[in-house]
Amino acid sequence: MTTGCAALPRTGIGVDVHAFAPAGTDRPMRLACLDWPGQIGLVGHSDADVAAHAACDALLSASGLGDLGAAFGTNDPRWAGASGTELLSETARRVREAGFTIGNVVVQVIGNRPRLGPRRLEAQQAMSEACGAEIALSATTTDGLGLTGRDEGLAAIATALIVRNTCPEVVHSGDVPTGDDRPAPVA
Ligand SMILES: [Zn+2]
Repeated sequence: MTTGCAALPRTGIGVDVHAFAPAGTDRPMRLACLDWPGQIGLVGHSDADVAAHAACDALLSASGLGDLGAAFGTNDPRWAGASGTELLSETARRVREAGFTIGNVVVQVIGNRPRLGPRRLEAQQAMSEACGAEIALSATTTDGLGLTGRDEGLAAIATALIVRNTCPEVVHSGDVPTGDDRPAPVA
């Protein structure tokens, strides 16, 4: 089996869920790299931006770099309180550093609030800027079912498409350089 051919795109998937803070608390809502004034926020180690976190997980998954918890451990003080925007930027940087070009990411937010529609394009732009690649955002509800339908929290699911920049591990038989046939080293 050959793996990681440069010509073949790689997909990744990510899911994230956070509970809403109790009514009456002043936890701010951060979603899709935007502030949502007047909305009760989500509880989490960081800003609990489910859309950004799902996008990060999809990118890490596609590149084989693990997942959000492993990449930005909850015990690591460097990332305590990091915003979704910061995590998404850093994730994208690491994916590129690992030798990939990010094609696109799609994120679907699942829940009753906030209503994403009026700010969907603004959120898409904020997420795309953080990632440095196109992110498409959509939203749906679950017809009153499950934790998102009961308004207990918010979920997001994401997929990412990336392409490896080079494919050094693929060597065709007969192409192996030997002796004086070896190409001169690149300066
Ligand atoms: Zn999260």
